[in-house]
Amino acid sequence: MIKLKNVSKYYYSKGVIATGFTKVNLEFNIGEFVAITGESGSGKSTLLNVISGLDSYEEGEMYVNGKETSHYMEKDWEIYRRKYIGNIYQNFNLINSYSVYQNIDLILSLNGVPRKLRKSKINELLARVNMTRYKHTKVSKLSGGQKQRVAIARALAKDVPVIIADEPTGNLDKAAAISVIKLLKEISKDKLIIIVTHNYDQVEDYVTRKITMHDGRVLEDKKLMDVSNDDNLIKTASLKNINILEKVRLGIRNTFNIVPKFILLLLVYSFIVCALMAEYSYFRLNEEDIEKLGYNNLFYDTNPSRIIINKNDKTTFSDDEINKIKSIKNVESISTNAVVDDIIFQYSNDNDIWINCLLKPIDNFKGKVDVGRVPEKDNEVIVVGSKSILTSPDKILNKDLYTDYDNGKLDKSTGIKIVGIKYSDNTSSFKYTDSIMYVSNNYINNMTYLTNKNYSEIKLKFMGTNYKIGSDNNFKIDTNDWVSPGKAFISSSLNSYCDKEKCIGRDFDINIKNIYFESNKSFNIEKVYDSKNINKILNLPDYNKDNFNEYYDFTFYINPNDYRDLFNKGTYEISVYANDIKNVDDISKKLNSMNYHTLNIKDTLVRDDSVKIIRVIKIIVTCILIVVLFFISYFIIKLILKSRNSYFAILRMLGANISVCRNLLVLELFNVASIAYFIFLLLAKMNENKIITVKFINIVNRYFTFNDYLTLYLIIILMSLFISLRYASTLFKKSVMNTYREEA
Ligand code: ADP
Ligand code: MG
Repeated sequence: MIKLKNVSKYYYSKGVIATGFTKVNLEFNIGEFVAITGESGSGKSTLLNVISGLDSYEEGEMYVNGKETSHYMEKDWEIYRRKYIGNIYQNFNLINSYSVYQNIDLILSLNGVPRKLRKSKINELLARVNMTRYKHTKVSKLSGGQKQRVAIARALAKDVPVIIADEPTGNLDKAAAISVIKLLKEISKDKLIIIVTHNYDQVEDYVTRKITMHDGRVLEDKKLMDVSNDDNLIKTASLKNINILEKVRLGIRNTFNIVPKFILLLLVYSFIVCALMAEYSYFRLNEEDIEKLGYNNLFYDTNPSRIIINKNDKTTFSDDEINKIKSIKNVESISTNAVVDDIIFQYSNDNDIWINCLLKPIDNFKGKVDVGRVPEKDNEVIVVGSKSILTSPDKILNKDLYTDYDNGKLDKSTGIKIVGIKYSDNTSSFKYTDSIMYVSNNYINNMTYLTNKNYSEIKLKFMGTNYKIGSDNNFKIDTNDWVSPGKAFISSSLNSYCDKEKCIGRDFDINIKNIYFESNKSFNIEKVYDSKNINKILNLPDYNKDNFNEYYDFTFYINPNDYRDLFNKGTYEISVYANDIKNVDDISKKLNSMNYHTLNIKDTLVRDDSVKIIRVIKIIVTCILIVVLFFISYFIIKLILKSRNSYFAILRMLGANISVCRNLLVLELFNVASIAYFIFLLLAKMNENKIITVKFINIVNRYFTFNDYLTLYLIIILMSLFISLRYASTLFKKSVMNTYREEA
């Protein structure tokens, strides 16, 4: 069946040629039980390796079933080994971390035997080698004799016609050796068994042929028994490949099989996951800082999380609509006042204190004050700003402060008192202000009214003529508490515009107009004042009459609430603040779908070139770090996987091809990587639910969306794939024999 004709094998190493064996002529047939003996170094193992197809030969011809093999490529030898050869080794080459059952199961799955058939077959084989009792014992716990029995069972599992055993009893005591030989004899009936032995006496009674080697040559070839040479008995193993399900199953088994290895790999992957997460969230944090670096000259509040909205139909926002906007996901706060884009200068009477600030409604204030207390009255406020600006709090607290907002007029209604201070350096997004002032809603309304007043065009229609306030006429509108609603007091100079100076009882209109709205109101003139009665009519007892010139005063006094009504026409514009810049676009989209017109402040910010350069550098640094991380992990994983070399060597000796081994390795690392990743996700979830608190994970939670998590998972899996493929390529570059030699 196997025939060698003048076959020689040489080894070339470091320029020296060593002879394995020379000019060997042998023929082996089914039914033979051949013992090869000879002193050490005589070429026995080399001969077996050539016959097994594990090693090449340099000279002569080898025939298998009459067919010449010199043209065989690595792949053909692989098929040959799988179809014909079962090997048994002196050092067993079992997978120590597998149980007896799993070891035999491995070779059956590698050869695509369906699961159902495997079970009965393994049981049968174990019974045949008398190892049923140890079915679920780990191989590492067995004695040498027991191991060799398992190895024999494994060799038999494949139904190959040839069993080749290199000193199978070399590591066994006498009794164990005899029983192994007996076992081999039993199975030799329909197979060709070739064994190498040092101890010929031990096998003498069982073998059918003795070959003695000396110095690479066959010294003696003696037939001891006749065997029927029946080629019909040759049954080659059917070639089927391991299916994907079995690969997955083996992959999972290998993942957890060796606990210390699993833990080490898990640690390395956890490190990779954490490092990647940290790097990525740091990158995102930077991106956000860069977003904040922008500026523009149009808005005072350049907070990039801010979205300005108004309605597409140019009407006011109802309370209902405002509440709906407030309840949009990730909206932190909203500001319905128009004064957010104006600086309010507050100063005390003695011009001692100047505070430059933005106004925000008090219900937006979060946290505790550092100095002072929370406001109790409408004119009490809290200021948030950096320590460097809000120095000497005792000078600031409880001082009466006014704004110059109302054209320099110190108005009681716009006066405030700071009662609380909170220090924060987080106001840097406000380019033109130092601090934020949290004020009552009433105060906001006052300021809104004043803002509207300042930015509106005010017109009078008096006695059939239109007059624009603030243009070259001297007409003025002012408020006075003594004027009843709907009525007006006018000066005597104005009275002269009327027929016969009788304005009392007649009406005039005020029309105001700004970018948002237009409003109108009619007033009925009730009184006319002059230099004699001004103090009485306007109830200004302290008013210095010397400052009053009857001929140059063209003031219309109306009721303050009436004036206010003209301007307080509701909310036309709202500022929505996202809890995070990353959510601005989503919120903006949502608002658009609700039929609002949006302007994202972050998109109005201008960034200069240096910012762009910094960003590019950061991207490059991030990429470099990921590559460095990859190589560090690769070398650590490589070290850990060294322990897997023998496993893959055995797999290849059992006939698994490189792609199967590679797949198994990929699967093994994929599993560990996924486990490490999902442990991290679990920790993140626990962190989110405050079961644990890890600061670094908090950052991750803050920045990561589902897509980020998915992207990072893919990166980690790709990295893992890359590592396994790289490792596989170095592992499988060597031939089976070399891998085996290194391991043996
Ligand atoms: P045996 O198994 O009979 O002890 P071997 O077949 O192992 O002998 O070795 C036969 C000869 O081949 C020896 O001289 C040995 O030095 C040489 N040889 C075996 N393996 C190698 C190798 N990998 N490289 C170089 N020489 C080798
Ligand atoms: Mg040897």
